[in-house]
Amino acid sequence: MKPTNYKNFLFADITSVNGVGKKISTYFKKKKVNTINDLLWNLPYSQTDRSETTTLDKLEIGKIFTLKIKVLKYNFPRIRNLPNRIKCSDNNGEIDLIFFNSKEGYIRKILPLNEWVVVSGKVNYFKNRYQITNPNYITTIDKIDYVKSVIPKYSLTEGLTEKVYRKIIENILLNIPDLDEWHDQDFIKKMKFLNWKQSMINLHNANTKNDINSASYRRLAYDEIFANSLFLSKNRNKIKKVKKITKNFSQSYSSKIINTLKFELTKGQNIIINEINEDLKSSQRMFRILQGDVGSGKTIIALIAAINVIEAGYQCALMVPTSILAEQHFKLFEKLIKDANLNIKFDLLTSKIERDKKKKILKDVEENKINFLIGTHALFQKTVNFNKLGLVIIDEQHKFGVNQRFMFAKKGDKNCDLLLMSATPIPRTMMMSIYGDMDTSRLVEKPLHRKPILTLSKPENKIDDLWPFIKNKLNKNEQVFWVCPLIEDSKKLDFTSTKKTFDLLEKKFPKKIGLIHGSLDQIEKEKVLKKFLDNEISILVSTTVIEVGIDFPNATTIVIENSNKFGLAQLHQLRGRVGRGDKDSTCILLFKNQLSQNAKKRIQILKSSNDGFYIAEEDMKLRGYGDLIGFKQSGIKLFKIADPVHHEDLFNLASQNINKLDPKNLNDSKYEILLKLFDKVDLIDEEKISA
Ligand code: ADP
Ligand code: MG
Repeated sequence: MKPTNYKNFLFADITSVNGVGKKISTYFKKKKVNTINDLLWNLPYSQTDRSETTTLDKLEIGKIFTLKIKVLKYNFPRIRNLPNRIKCSDNNGEIDLIFFNSKEGYIRKILPLNEWVVVSGKVNYFKNRYQITNPNYITTIDKIDYVKSVIPKYSLTEGLTEKVYRKIIENILLNIPDLDEWHDQDFIKKMKFLNWKQSMINLHNANTKNDINSASYRRLAYDEIFANSLFLSKNRNKIKKVKKITKNFSQSYSSKIINTLKFELTKGQNIIINEINEDLKSSQRMFRILQGDVGSGKTIIALIAAINVIEAGYQCALMVPTSILAEQHFKLFEKLIKDANLNIKFDLLTSKIERDKKKKILKDVEENKINFLIGTHALFQKTVNFNKLGLVIIDEQHKFGVNQRFMFAKKGDKNCDLLLMSATPIPRTMMMSIYGDMDTSRLVEKPLHRKPILTLSKPENKIDDLWPFIKNKLNKNEQVFWVCPLIEDSKKLDFTSTKKTFDLLEKKFPKKIGLIHGSLDQIEKEKVLKKFLDNEISILVSTTVIEVGIDFPNATTIVIENSNKFGLAQLHQLRGRVGRGDKDSTCILLFKNQLSQNAKKRIQILKSSNDGFYIAEEDMKLRGYGDLIGFKQSGIKLFKIADPVHHEDLFNLASQNINKLDPKNLNDSKYEILLKLFDKVDLIDEEKISA
């Protein structure tokens, strides 16, 4: 095949495969399989062994057999809902083939009377007779070897028969092209990798051993990791190539604000503020992510960055995931500006703002009469046109899609800097593979005077011990979070489980309880949160839907029910909702009676450390990366096959190998197809960012 045909084949629509008609392609497209390449990455997760044959006197119930049998007699009942029943024999015994929903004509065709056929399926026993219901294979004797084998099992076969799926994937594997090697030959040799085609074929072959650590699997995982790192490096190069106008400011505004703060900035905060200032003042665009544990004090850093950009004569936008958080940031900023006596125009834009007010805001933004706009994703709608946008800040970035950062980067012109913030401490390999194109700042140190949160654990049957403790807190006018695990698939179940806790607490502490559960919509949720924020209720019962980022300095206790349902990083995040003020705070982990070794270990890690980064690493080791907070919730699947826990060495090798490349070679055409195999199409539109 010629090079152009490779692409034509791998990236052709799934309907171009023999055997994929309209019905099957609709089914595939629903599962996001559009091209042949998409289908190739749906690797078998197990296999079905059809290699066992026997005579009908030696059948075993519940086992899969591939049988040679002769068709003896048809029974096509004329009564609806009764299955068709075909009696067969092999001279040693008898078996019935049972068909639901198969037409008589079809059965007569594939099972001609008195002929020998090959049938494969699971044997069961009903009313004293052996039978196979809807056999997986019925074919002619000459095809027995095709059926009598170990056959890969694919998740996508639910809804398609094994036979049909197998035919489709075999058709594809017969035709996949040899691709020119994109990795260094010496490296391939050293790693004992096979070429792309052979590795792919091996992974689809149920007879080769191909777990996550096999050479074939690692070869393709490395391809993916390399493609991802390459893609990030290319993006980074593109962004860094653009020359922007440097921002000039003397920090006179920000100094005023810092002087009026009730606290001293920590050393960590100061270092990061300086890093950001250098970026703002440089002639390259800032593309930076600020990672800092919950409560480490990221907001003030963001606001200081905004103030400096405003001093330099630019507009600034701060986007957060929820209106309530937007309001909180807005109020904080309002107070800072007032205390420092600065003349800065700022406003709040969320979906809650009424139309007339919104219209006015849009007009003012366009005419540069607003310097700073704080809001939810409403900020990024097409109708919002900034006049001279100099900085975009996204708080709680992991709540937005991973690739959305490119969209935000496009909102401003080439003079617009970008700062992302995330309270999700991500292990290092993950950080590299998601944000490898960005500069990172890590805020590790917590503000001074912050008291560590005391973490305790208790079996649920001793819940009565808690009441005096909670009563004491409420008497001191402090507040309590009570968290129940979210029942994801059922809003009704979720409601009943939280309601049960709510009723129990309501009996103990009448009129002091609020409830947030999965079936409340965003507006209702925020109403309850606001009541809690305004201290109209003292205990907030909720599932994990309580939003991150909101500052509740008056909440000093968090109780987490059935705490082993949560990941460590998630527990740590939940715990971070308290302990933000200067009072003593407590986190109580409730658990069902018996704890596994693993669960005990997890609780121990949490009790012994308050360091989100450490906890995230440990969490990933214990649960695998798929469960890391934020990523699972947002449904982002970062990799098709690579796994940051199992393939950590490959991540390091990929980044070493890419660093060795001459930047000019990043755009080498041999990488084009590699990037395309993993859907790493250009997200950054060069013209747009350099406009
Ligand atoms: P996060 O990093 O989770 O966004 P915040 O910015 O909301 O954390 O800060 C949490 C709390 O810590 C706020 O009440 C904030 O005023 C306070 N804070 C921030 N920096 C300091 C500091 N240097 N010293 C004391 N308190 C601080
Ligand atoms: Mg925050």
